[in-house]
Amino acid sequence: MHRIEVSRQRLRFASLASIVLACLLALSCLEALGGCVAEKPKQQSTENRSAEIEVFSQTFVAPAYESELSIVVHDDEPDFSDILNTTAPFIEFSEINSFGQCGQAVGLLGKETLPQGPRSDLQKVTPAGFHNAEYPWIEDRWVYNRSHLIAFALGGGDANAKNLITGTYSLNTRGMLSLEERTLYYIVSTGNHVLYRVTPIYEGHEPVARGVLIEAKSVEDDGAGLSFCRFCFNVEAGVEIDYSTGYTHADGTISENTVAEKTFIPDEQVTYVLNTFSLKFHRPDCSSVHDIKAWNRMYFAGTREEAIEMGYQPCGYCKP
Ligand SMILES: [Zn+2]
Repeated sequence: MHRIEVSRQRLRFASLASIVLACLLALSCLEALGGCVAEKPKQQSTENRSAEIEVFSQTFVAPAYESELSIVVHDDEPDFSDILNTTAPFIEFSEINSFGQCGQAVGLLGKETLPQGPRSDLQKVTPAGFHNAEYPWIEDRWVYNRSHLIAFALGGGDANAKNLITGTYSLNTRGMLSLEERTLYYIVSTGNHVLYRVTPIYEGHEPVARGVLIEAKSVEDDGAGLSFCRFCFNVEAGVEIDYSTGYTHADGTISENTVAEKTFIPDEQVTYVLNTFSLKFHRPDCSSVHDIKAWNRMYFAGTREEAIEMGYQPCGYCKP
């Protein structure tokens, strides 16, 4: 059995040091006894792992893209049966394999895992297949983002190559974001924990994933508050992606003269807009919200106190 490497994200949280220590001790003890905590029995060796990974005890192949950026799979039922007896928050990442493919990222997320400070620049990480190109109809112009598997805002950490894939603008800022927002809001509003796993799905040895499988299940209420199993497609309208290289070209379905429409359209439930890069929060009508890059922008439906408790600071201009 291959055990994915623990990146010890939990060590970032000094206040949790004792819990962490106990957890690590427990882990080593259990390992010594041949037990398994947060173990991944289905995980294949990083050398051999390819697109045909096992999820739900069967080979999971990326569904064909039709029109929705994310779709329900497996009847929306996550499967965390391979993660046993985890009570302490953790986040684990897989080793990158010899083809540059990232593996599963999994965690027990809670307030403890939320970021404690602003993010640094991700530029130093170049995921496999990251041959970026600009298209005028994409809001931020660039087709690719360095896409976190587990979002920074949920505790996925900084410029960690094991957590960053070549993901399209739409995968990063639309397909995945709404699921991340739901998860974050659930954690903050309840104080509960969420088992959360993101599995990038590749075909063969391709450097660019076809999409990501995201599973989440709230722990304390056994999924009553939050539970989903979705596949998010790594696609971009008007762009044909060569997943075997990462190079792209316009597919002719969108005119080269089309200029991007702003996608910042918060609904009435949105109370604040979070900048997950600076860890500032704004009123939705703050003018500076439009300057936040789409991939750093999260809509939030909670209270001011909840935003502050999450580690966000009020904007000095709109004074939320
Ligand atoms: Zn503001």
